[in-house]
Amino acid sequence: MPARTTLRAVPEAAAEVDLDAAERAASEFLKALGLAIDDEGLQGTPGRMARAYAELFTPREFNLTTFPNDEGYDELVLARDIPVRSVCEHHLLPFSGVAHVGYLPGERIVGLSKLARVVEHFASRPQVQERLTKQVADWLGGQLHPKGVGVVIEAEHSCMTLRGVRAAGSRTVTSALQGILREDGRSRQEFFALTGVHA
Ligand code: ZN
Repeated sequence: MPARTTLRAVPEAAAEVDLDAAERAASEFLKALGLAIDDEGLQGTPGRMARAYAELFTPREFNLTTFPNDEGYDELVLARDIPVRSVCEHHLLPFSGVAHVGYLPGERIVGLSKLARVVEHFASRPQVQERLTKQVADWLGGQLHPKGVGVVIEAEHSCMTLRGVRAAGSRTVTSALQGILREDGRSRQEFFALTGVHA
């Protein structure tokens, strides 16, 4: 029978959003950086900043419905090139790229689109890419009890590409593997081959 889990806002993101306070603070922030926020172009900017960040940090709730693996499917299930967008917690600048999320089914399976929703959920807060990768893998491991889980994220961090070292085009690759995908060399290679990531 189908089993349902609702994934709500991650616990650390539980505080209330006060958009007015955020707008006032954004206005102060821009002023402190020497910007003339009374200029026509910048007039609505503090409010837009507040709403944009609020949106980036508000995960959508969704139900993860899992089904019994009646067919006994035991090959890798992989969702490739899931778009990822998040905000780095060090600079509060966006990073974006793709995630490849796979698992080797055990007793239960899940719809492929839900793998994208799990990524989106954990990306909807200030993050570091390594933690995001691991959170997706850990959560799927805990919900599906699969024989293996593999998550790879490839992303470009604007804090690296637009400022600092200005490494335009450089992508950061992180991976989190569990179970057979971690322990068995052949399964691991198959997973990385299917993701197109060289590891
Ligand atoms: Zn950063």
